[in-house]
Amino acid sequence: MLSESKPDDVRRSGADPSAWAEDFAGLMVVSMARLGRSLDGPFDAALAAWTYEHELDSEWINELRDSFPAWLAAMCGQKPGTLAGDRQKAFDVFMACLVVLLTHWRTEPPLGVRYGSVAAHWCAGHPAIYSKVQAAIRARSSVIRIALADWTLADVLKHGRGEPPKAEKLELKTVLQFSGQRTWAQAAATAAYALFGDFLMDESETTEFCKRCAKPFRIGKKKLFCSLRCARIHSAIQSRHEKVRISRRRKFRNAAGALARLLESGLGARTDWRDHVQRKAGMQTRDARRSRGLTAFIRASQAAPGSPEREGLLRSLQVDSDGNPDTEEREALQREFDSFLSNIQKAEEIQQRGKRK
Ligand SMILES: [Zn+2]
Repeated sequence: MLSESKPDDVRRSGADPSAWAEDFAGLMVVSMARLGRSLDGPFDAALAAWTYEHELDSEWINELRDSFPAWLAAMCGQKPGTLAGDRQKAFDVFMACLVVLLTHWRTEPPLGVRYGSVAAHWCAGHPAIYSKVQAAIRARSSVIRIALADWTLADVLKHGRGEPPKAEKLELKTVLQFSGQRTWAQAAATAAYALFGDFLMDESETTEFCKRCAKPFRIGKKKLFCSLRCARIHSAIQSRHEKVRISRRRKFRNAAGALARLLESGLGARTDWRDHVQRKAGMQTRDARRSRGLTAFIRASQAAPGSPEREGLLRSLQVDSDGNPDTEEREALQREFDSFLSNIQKAEEIQQRGKRK
């Protein structure tokens, strides 16, 4: 008889077709197909990770969350009940892993001129992640499964009775499966690392991340931004930043000039140099936040050359910080900056001496 030639897991379900829905093998294939369409590919996984980070309550994320435990259990060749630990947390572990991995990928590109694969250079610079990706892919192998297949219209027509046959339609399918996973969290992390490995191998060269919102998109006509909207917002922010920088630099130049002239003309102990310079440079306004300008320079003058205080302040004065600032221009700015700071030190000393007398 045919039924006797079936393996255990198929025979167990008996002849009742509705029992198939409960059956593990059936569940596995159904859920893998459902999730497979929306998450299995590394690009879709990257998109899901972005959505998880930015639109946690979206319908797509909720759907993925619901189908995830069955998918993950099937990926480990187990029934959903047999993995240890908290199955509810598995989806969050999976997504958090992907978010972190993709953030590393996006924000820490290999430096300098690199030949060959960017992903290979990236892995060379991230040995800890690389070894975890290797382990996850090593734990994954392809196995064959008996799967319940859907009746197609062609089957029904062939059957010739206008309805599907009562019997099950079975097929053999090759599926990928992780071995050696014992807990939900472990399996979720393994699945995330393996998908990230797929991303490095197959999609990293063709995927770009939006310069504004970090959403992944396929490289094509779009080069920097995921959408026209992001491009517009980005350029508006840029030009606003540009204006702020230009005004900041103008005030810095005015202040530096005013202080140099004050020192040349002989700074008396009675003159409050801060007040004088702020007034001349237009730094003193009723807006208290803006008058911090000079304070930042005084603090930087007390810090060591090359310290974060100094470097950060200098950078804030560079107008073209995003592109490639002209080297000559930058050196001139550095000289002006250094001489302003040393003049501040002089002025402060004179003032201190005046107070002591
Ligand atoms: Zn965007």
